Amino acid sequence: MKKDVTLTVKAKYVNLYKSGYPLISKEAIINLNEDTKEGTIIRLVDEKNKFIAKGYFGKQNKGFGWVLSRNENEQIDQRFFMNKLRDAINYREPFFNSLDTNAFRIVNGEGDGLGGLTIEYFDGYYLINWYSKGIYRFREYIINALKELAEFKAIYQKKRFDVDGKYIEEDDFVAGERGTFPIIVKENGVNLAVYLNESAMVGVFLDQRDVRKTIRDAYAEGKNVLNTFSYTGAFSVFAAVGDAVKTTSVDLANRSLNKTIEQFRVNGLDIESHDIIVEDVFNYFKYAVKKQLTFDMVILDPPSFARSKKIVFSAEKDYKNLLKEAISITEDGGIIVASTNSSSFNMKKFKSFIDQAFKETNRKFQLIEEFSLPNDFKTIKEFPEGIYLKVVFIKSLP
Ligand code: SAH
Repeated sequence: MKKDVTLTVKAKYVNLYKSGYPLISKEAIINLNEDTKEGTIIRLVDEKNKFIAKGYFGKQNKGFGWVLSRNENEQIDQRFFMNKLRDAINYREPFFNSLDTNAFRIVNGEGDGLGGLTIEYFDGYYLINWYSKGIYRFREYIINALKELAEFKAIYQKKRFDVDGKYIEEDDFVAGERGTFPIIVKENGVNLAVYLNESAMVGVFLDQRDVRKTIRDAYAEGKNVLNTFSYTGAFSVFAAVGDAVKTTSVDLANRSLNKTIEQFRVNGLDIESHDIIVEDVFNYFKYAVKKQLTFDMVILDPPSFARSKKIVFSAEKDYKNLLKEAISITEDGGIIVASTNSSSFNMKKFKSFIDQAFKETNRKFQLIEEFSLPNDFKTIKEFPEGIYLKVVFIKSLP
């Protein structure tokens, strides 16, 4: 690696970094040079040049790198990454021992002391996500550590940063023996088709595992379920396995049709009684109102931002209106599962959207249960932004 760079933390941010805040941000640093070479080791010091922490430079969203250590003498070398990965893998031991789940996250960025990096496990296959050029510069250490510590069929990767204007190399194989995709993984006994050789989205979002299980085990039976922003229909499949009488999956993307059929098929479910609709959900809501369709359960899991032909959706600005649409087609006593992965607002604010939406539709509601990230998505209290997932089960009342 190149020469270290010393960055001076503004006085009012010193305690924040001392107490464990991991993200290197522009506003906290006096002498940040945005053109620093990616992967450069950074020493954070106070204005008296006293050491606070060390990390690496890597542009990722609005951040400029991550703290890796608070020990001045610790070298960021092969041993460092071995130790981090070993701890991360040990922490997931209950998952490795599970008999009915073999898809989970083994490294969750800053939650495991490795900001900018995630690694997921899919039944013997590992998928590394590199979120900056900076962390990618440490790839040899990290891949070596993974090879040393894990038994694997293959390792794949996704470079989630811009490489010469090209964003994602679809089939980015690293080591082992290439898989035949889809591979079929298990989540709480349910099959899921996963493609590690396509886009950044592999077919399932592992952070919703507990929510899917809850829908199957406690809510689905006998219900007519609408799953909006359904992607590959994972919520619909769990509802169907939980004996929902019907599911309707709505997603704008063409790919969602075949992918959803596939998720039903790999579970031996008959798709005859299930609808899969490729359409803008906002059009679908209008259609449902016009046709007086109502549902016992409506699942809302939009992206934080989405641009379709007609509209721009931002969870922070538009979630309240999305809820109002959902309320209008939910049966009295029905359940709305409201989910967001937006890190730009917290649970309190999310609940204020829920409050507002029910007020403006002159209806009452009851909050039934809440979810955040599952245990394999390890987080640290010093970085609440990292606890992005918020899911609320709401009973809609007249
Ligand atoms: N709920 C899914 C994940 C959703 S990912 C799951 O649990 O697996 C977000 C999805 O929203 C993408 O598949 C995208 O195609 C879809 N999407 C974005 N904007 C949309 C819109 N306006 N109408 C319908 N789908 C939309």
